Amino acid sequence: MKSVLEGLCDYGGFLRTKIADERAMLAFGKSVARVLIPRLVITLSGDLGVGKTTLARGVLQGLGFGGIVKSPTYAMLEPYQLDLGAVYHFDLFRMSDPEELEFLGYRDCLRDAYLCLVEWPERSDGYLRKIDLELSIICEGDTRIVTIRAHTPAGRITNEHLQNI
Ligand code: ADP
Ligand code: MG
Repeated sequence: MKSVLEGLCDYGGFLRTKIADERAMLAFGKSVARVLIPRLVITLSGDLGVGKTTLARGVLQGLGFGGIVKSPTYAMLEPYQLDLGAVYHFDLFRMSDPEELEFLGYRDCLRDAYLCLVEWPERSDGYLRKIDLELSIICEGDTRIVTIRAHTPAGRITNEHLQNI
Protein backbone atom coordinates (compact mmCIF):
# COMPACT_ATOMS: atom_id res chain seq x y z
CA MET A 1 0.00 0.00 0.00
CA LYS A 2 1.43 3.35 -1.04
CA SER A 3 1.50 6.60 0.89
CA VAL A 4 -1.62 8.72 0.37
CA LEU A 5 0.67 11.75 0.32
CA GLU A 6 2.36 12.43 -2.99
CA GLY A 7 6.12 12.36 -3.34
CA LEU A 8 7.10 11.15 0.12
CA CYS A 9 9.61 8.34 0.52
CA ASP A 10 9.10 5.58 3.03
CA TYR A 11 11.72 5.48 5.72
CA GLY A 12 11.69 1.90 6.87
CA GLY A 13 8.68 -0.34 6.63
CA PHE A 14 5.19 0.38 7.76
CA LEU A 15 3.19 -0.79 10.72
CA ARG A 16 -0.44 -1.80 10.58
CA THR A 17 -2.79 -2.34 13.48
CA LYS A 18 -6.49 -3.16 13.95
CA ILE A 19 -8.53 -0.98 16.27
CA ALA A 20 -11.79 -2.54 17.50
CA ASP A 21 -13.67 0.51 18.79
CA GLU A 22 -13.44 4.12 19.93
CA ARG A 23 -11.96 3.13 23.28
CA ALA A 24 -9.21 1.17 21.58
CA MET A 25 -8.51 4.15 19.29
CA LEU A 26 -8.06 6.41 22.34
CA ALA A 27 -5.78 3.79 23.90
CA PHE A 28 -3.78 3.58 20.68
CA GLY A 29 -3.39 7.37 20.69
CA LYS A 30 -2.08 7.17 24.24
CA SER A 31 0.44 4.54 23.16
CA VAL A 32 1.61 6.86 20.39
CA ALA A 33 2.00 9.64 22.99
CA ARG A 34 4.17 7.40 25.17
CA VAL A 35 6.71 6.69 22.44
CA LEU A 36 6.78 10.10 20.74
CA ILE A 37 10.01 11.92 20.41
CA PRO A 38 9.69 15.72 20.54
CA ARG A 39 9.11 17.96 17.52
CA LEU A 40 7.37 15.49 15.23
CA VAL A 41 4.81 16.32 12.58
CA ILE A 42 2.21 13.56 12.43
CA THR A 43 -0.47 13.49 9.74
CA LEU A 44 -3.84 11.77 10.07
CA SER A 45 -5.54 10.67 6.87
CA GLY A 46 -8.82 8.93 6.15
CA ASP A 47 -12.45 9.61 5.32
CA LEU A 48 -14.73 11.83 7.41
CA GLY A 49 -15.76 10.07 10.60
CA VAL A 50 -13.07 7.41 10.40
CA GLY A 51 -11.48 8.38 13.74
CA LYS A 52 -8.71 10.92 13.07
CA THR A 53 -9.85 13.33 15.80
CA THR A 54 -10.44 10.42 18.18
CA LEU A 55 -6.86 9.31 17.66
CA ALA A 56 -5.60 12.88 18.17
CA ARG A 57 -7.69 13.04 21.38
CA GLY A 58 -5.95 9.89 22.64
CA VAL A 59 -2.54 11.37 21.86
CA LEU A 60 -3.36 14.61 23.71
CA GLN A 61 -4.73 12.68 26.68
CA GLY A 62 -1.59 10.56 26.67
CA LEU A 63 0.51 13.73 26.78
CA GLY A 64 -1.34 14.77 29.93
CA PHE A 65 -4.12 16.99 28.59
CA GLY A 66 -7.22 16.59 30.75
CA GLY A 67 -9.64 18.96 28.99
CA ILE A 68 -11.93 18.63 26.01
CA VAL A 69 -10.27 17.99 22.65
CA LYS A 70 -12.46 19.70 20.07
CA SER A 71 -12.34 18.91 16.40
CA PRO A 72 -10.50 21.79 14.69
CA THR A 73 -12.71 21.45 11.60
CA TYR A 74 -13.96 25.06 11.72
CA ALA A 75 -11.06 26.87 13.38
CA MET A 76 -8.59 24.73 11.40
CA LEU A 77 -6.18 24.96 14.36
CA GLU A 78 -6.54 24.16 18.05
CA PRO A 79 -3.42 24.95 20.08
CA TYR A 80 -2.66 23.30 23.43
CA GLN A 81 -0.08 24.46 25.94
CA LEU A 82 1.00 21.37 27.84
CA ASP A 83 3.74 20.89 30.44
CA LEU A 84 5.83 19.20 27.73
CA GLY A 85 5.37 22.11 25.31
CA ALA A 86 2.94 23.26 22.64
CA VAL A 87 0.82 20.83 20.67
CA TYR A 88 -0.89 22.15 17.53
CA HIS A 89 -3.82 20.21 16.16
CA PHE A 90 -4.69 21.21 12.59
CA ASP A 91 -7.62 20.13 10.44
CA LEU A 92 -7.18 21.28 6.87
CA PHE A 93 -10.45 19.86 5.53
CA ARG A 94 -11.93 23.30 4.88
CA MET A 95 -8.77 24.83 3.50
CA SER A 96 -9.29 26.04 -0.06
CA ASP A 97 -5.76 27.28 -0.70
CA PRO A 98 -2.62 25.75 0.86
CA GLU A 99 -1.29 29.27 1.43
CA GLU A 100 -3.84 29.56 4.22
CA LEU A 101 -1.30 27.61 6.24
CA GLU A 102 0.79 30.79 6.33
CA PHE A 103 -2.15 32.75 7.77
CA LEU A 104 -2.65 30.03 10.37
CA GLY A 105 0.96 30.59 11.43
CA TYR A 106 2.10 27.13 10.48
CA ARG A 107 5.77 28.19 10.23
CA ASP A 108 5.78 29.54 13.79
CA CYS A 109 3.94 26.46 15.02
CA LEU A 110 6.60 24.25 13.45
CA ARG A 111 9.31 26.28 15.14
CA ASP A 112 8.09 25.86 18.70
CA ALA A 113 5.89 22.76 18.61
CA TYR A 114 6.43 19.76 20.81
CA LEU A 115 4.05 18.08 18.37
CA CYS A 116 2.00 19.00 15.29
CA LEU A 117 -0.99 16.81 14.46
CA VAL A 118 -2.47 17.44 11.02
CA GLU A 119 -5.80 16.05 9.81
CA TRP A 120 -6.40 16.21 6.04
CA PRO A 121 -2.74 16.76 5.07
CA GLU A 122 -3.77 16.02 1.46
CA ARG A 123 -5.23 19.54 1.34
CA SER A 124 -1.84 21.13 2.05
CA ASP A 125 -0.43 20.36 -1.38
CA GLY A 126 3.10 19.92 -0.04
CA TYR A 127 3.14 23.05 2.15
CA LEU A 128 3.73 21.06 5.33
CA ARG A 129 7.47 20.98 4.59
CA LYS A 130 8.17 17.84 6.58
CA ILE A 131 6.08 14.92 7.71
CA ASP A 132 7.67 12.51 10.16
CA LEU A 133 4.88 10.05 10.57
CA GLU A 134 1.85 9.42 8.38
CA LEU A 135 -1.10 7.65 9.95
CA SER A 136 -3.89 6.55 7.65
CA ILE A 137 -7.12 5.03 8.87
CA ILE A 138 -9.63 2.95 6.94
CA CYS A 139 -12.95 1.42 8.05
CA GLU A 140 -13.70 -2.27 8.01
CA GLY A 141 -17.15 -2.35 9.60
CA ASP A 142 -16.67 -0.99 13.12
CA THR A 143 -13.04 -1.96 13.05
CA ARG A 144 -10.47 0.57 11.92
CA ILE A 145 -7.18 -0.33 10.31
CA VAL A 146 -4.42 2.14 11.07
CA THR A 147 -1.31 2.17 8.91
CA ILE A 148 1.71 4.04 10.22
CA ARG A 149 4.43 5.01 7.86
CA ALA A 150 7.64 6.87 8.70
CA HIS A 151 9.07 9.49 6.36
CA THR A 152 12.04 10.69 8.44
CA PRO A 153 14.57 9.05 10.79
CA ALA A 154 12.71 10.57 13.78
CA GLY A 155 9.46 9.10 12.52
CA ARG A 156 11.14 5.77 12.05
CA ILE A 157 12.34 5.68 15.66
CA THR A 158 8.79 6.32 16.85
CA ASN A 159 7.44 3.63 14.52
CA GLU A 160 9.98 1.13 15.82
CA HIS A 161 8.95 1.90 19.42
CA LEU A 162 5.30 1.42 18.44
CA GLN A 163 6.15 -1.98 17.01
CA ASN A 164 7.34 -3.08 20.42
CA ILE A 165 4.22 -2.24 22.41
P1 ADP B 1 -12.69 12.10 11.90
O1 ADP B 1 -11.85 13.07 12.70
O2 ADP B 1 -11.86 11.10 11.12
O3 ADP B 1 -13.69 12.79 11.02
P2 ADP B 1 -13.88 11.39 14.46
O4 ADP B 1 -12.75 10.90 15.31
O5 ADP B 1 -14.36 12.78 14.71
O6 ADP B 1 -13.52 11.18 12.92
O7 ADP B 1 -15.14 10.43 14.61
C1 ADP B 1 -15.02 9.04 14.56
C2 ADP B 1 -16.36 8.43 14.91
O8 ADP B 1 -16.35 7.04 14.68
C3 ADP B 1 -16.72 8.64 16.39
O9 ADP B 1 -18.09 8.94 16.49
C4 ADP B 1 -16.42 7.28 17.02
O10 ADP B 1 -17.25 7.01 18.12
C5 ADP B 1 -16.74 6.32 15.87
N1 ADP B 1 -15.99 5.05 15.89
C6 ADP B 1 -16.53 3.83 15.75
N2 ADP B 1 -15.61 2.86 15.78
C7 ADP B 1 -14.42 3.50 15.92
C8 ADP B 1 -13.07 3.03 15.98
N3 ADP B 1 -12.73 1.74 15.89
N4 ADP B 1 -12.11 3.96 16.13
C9 ADP B 1 -12.42 5.29 16.17
N5 ADP B 1 -13.67 5.78 16.11
C10 ADP B 1 -14.66 4.89 15.98
MG1 MG C 1 -11.62 15.15 12.56
